Amino acid sequence: MLVPLPFPGPLDYLAPEPLEPGELVSIPLGKREVVGCVWDKTSTVPSDFAAPPGREIALERLRPVGAKLDVRPLPHSLRRFVDWVAAYTLTPPGLVLAMATRIHLKDAPKPTLGWVRTEAPEGDLRMTPPRRSVLNVASEIPMSTADLSSKSGASSAVIRGLAAAGLLREALIPLIAPFATPDPGYGAPVLSEEQAEAAAHLCRPVRESRFEVTLLEGVTGSGKTEVYLEAVAACLDEGRQVLVLLPEIALSAQWTDRFIRRFGAAPAVWHSDLGQKLRRETWAAISDGSARVLVGARSALFLPFNDLGLVVVDEEHESAFKQEEGVMYHGRDMAVVRARLADAPAILVSATPSLETLANVETGRYRHELLTSRHGGAAMPDVELVDMRHDPPERGLFLSPVLCEAIETTLRAQEQAMLFLNRRGYAPLTLCRACGHRMQCPNCSAWLVEHRARGILTCHHCGHTERLPNSCPECHAENSLVPIGPGIERITEEAKMRFPDAKILVMASDTLGSPAATAEAVRRISDGEVNLIIGTQIVAKGWHFPNLTLVGVVDADLGLGGGDLRAAERTVQLLHQVAGRAGRAERPGRVLLQSYVGEHPVMTALVSNDFQAFMDQESAQRRPGFWPPYGRLAALIISAPDGAKADALAREIALAAPECEGVQVLGPAPAPLAVLRGRHRRRLLLRTVRGIAVQPLLRKWLADIRPAGGARVDVDIDPISF
Ligand code: ADP
Ligand code: ZN
Repeated sequence: MLVPLPFPGPLDYLAPEPLEPGELVSIPLGKREVVGCVWDKTSTVPSDFAAPPGREIALERLRPVGAKLDVRPLPHSLRRFVDWVAAYTLTPPGLVLAMATRIHLKDAPKPTLGWVRTEAPEGDLRMTPPRRSVLNVASEIPMSTADLSSKSGASSAVIRGLAAAGLLREALIPLIAPFATPDPGYGAPVLSEEQAEAAAHLCRPVRESRFEVTLLEGVTGSGKTEVYLEAVAACLDEGRQVLVLLPEIALSAQWTDRFIRRFGAAPAVWHSDLGQKLRRETWAAISDGSARVLVGARSALFLPFNDLGLVVVDEEHESAFKQEEGVMYHGRDMAVVRARLADAPAILVSATPSLETLANVETGRYRHELLTSRHGGAAMPDVELVDMRHDPPERGLFLSPVLCEAIETTLRAQEQAMLFLNRRGYAPLTLCRACGHRMQCPNCSAWLVEHRARGILTCHHCGHTERLPNSCPECHAENSLVPIGPGIERITEEAKMRFPDAKILVMASDTLGSPAATAEAVRRISDGEVNLIIGTQIVAKGWHFPNLTLVGVVDADLGLGGGDLRAAERTVQLLHQVAGRAGRAERPGRVLLQSYVGEHPVMTALVSNDFQAFMDQESAQRRPGFWPPYGRLAALIISAPDGAKADALAREIALAAPECEGVQVLGPAPAPLAVLRGRHRRRLLLRTVRGIAVQPLLRKWLADIRPAGGARVDVDIDPISF
């Protein structure tokens, strides 16, 4: 029995009645009740990865399990996936299981009952007008008493009377319209030759229920979505289920609309903001197969798909797929594993694929489909560099004359412009002009970010918030604190001053909050209610705004600093995606990149629209040192309440480091955030050549390490920053 707690493996229990693997049961554990899952005796996880066996307990001390839950058992492929993720990420399997069963841990929400019309004949019941009216309104779709009585004009007594006579029956009211089955043929587009060929290749393994990974690459607007929806259609045609992963839930509204236009029915949706009740219904609908297509965040990988026939990862290069807390897994990589364990193909989709995926294409592990032209012959946006050394903004401002003029022109032409800056708040740093003191988070090694609209300084890592003081906390000088650098609030202030007639919309994760607010913002852009959009990375996502013809990147260099080997790759991917927002329809788009390092390969790649050369260069840089994807990497994050403890533990671990060929240990060094939420963090990197499994090495290495006094070691396999 696997329980959702950090035991090394399954625990033994007595079962009063025979239980099948996968069944969920309530389990007594100390004074608590948890939901456990009957786990298989044998596991197909590679022995390298196999988790240690559970603790052996004498038979007479075994406790009996509690009641069985009224849900379907977790399918075999999901159980194997839980084992696999646990072994790969070195996480106790119970904690991975928890991601699949979490929704059953709280009390079930009370189902709401309603009335449905039965097949029973009216018999000799006298048909008064109110009774007739109720029967006319009632159908096989459950309706609440209040609804039924308001629609029929009859009292609840009449309804109860009809129920007593057997003409109405109580039934659960579904929270959402039952998951309709999308129609594979509905709204099918006519594909171009290139698209049709790619679609045919993607459909083949779907038809054959065969695991195969394909990278679907193509510039923004080349019809990648249209093409992979053909594979979705093929899978629906086969009667199997489809999982589509998107990096950001905020995206799913536009995606869902498009899906409905293509298939005539809505997909199920999964993300962390779903209400408890909707979660349960979606979970159940995936489990019994009534939901056929689900679009979701990475956590959707842990849903109990009954018959998974295709997995799609859209924007596969996105770092949002990486979970950095709790079970640290990469959604894209685990999606491939999930597909393999279900004998289903996986499609990875991107305009700027990750170096990892390209390396897998190169070695032949993944197939490659390339769409080379934009649909309908639309031109790629024209990307220009604004050299801030030669064309600087006025003192204290951030928009260069060239960019301002371009915005003017765009707005005058009744078109829309977008300013992109990947930084929330007003200013990233607040400094005392008198003494040079910098406002820092008390819990993290990070500056406090001013949010002027709310009059506060806040830490974007731990959430620490304080009022913006009037005087410097260090030297007590009055009114000496000044903001350094821009966040989007400050850019908005400047835009309001420069373009007083513009209708501005600000889009950032903290101003949009909910998916509904995001959908409303998208609608306002689509309907032309606004013409100047200012946003953080949320605006970079796959939105489609036909009248948006200018994109200004306020600080293209942001993200290049920090010494992270992947910084350049990430910046290219993000900025290319931002650029892709411009001019998707008949209108050609223009993109201006404000940069102080115009000769940087990232800028060259963006301006020339040549990513092949850039990626080749990246790969040439990483290959000799066996940096990912040419070697394997694992990060050990050692943290403790104070720096000395963290140092001591880091040194102890470093001394026990494995010594063998092809393996190198780097560090200890301060972790990228050396202090986070009051914990001091050090990092060791384990780097190996390809072909060495890092998990057994790590398990052996850490076997005798016993962190004490609040210290901890977290293992991050395949960290995304290094
Ligand atoms: P990508 O996913 O590569 O950015 P999309 O699939 O979103 O590209 O296509 C861009 C636009 O072109 C969308 O509006 C899409 O509906 C349209 N489009 C692409 N291919 C076709 C096609 N064969 N027929 C009709 N419209 C198409
Ligand atoms: Zn903080």
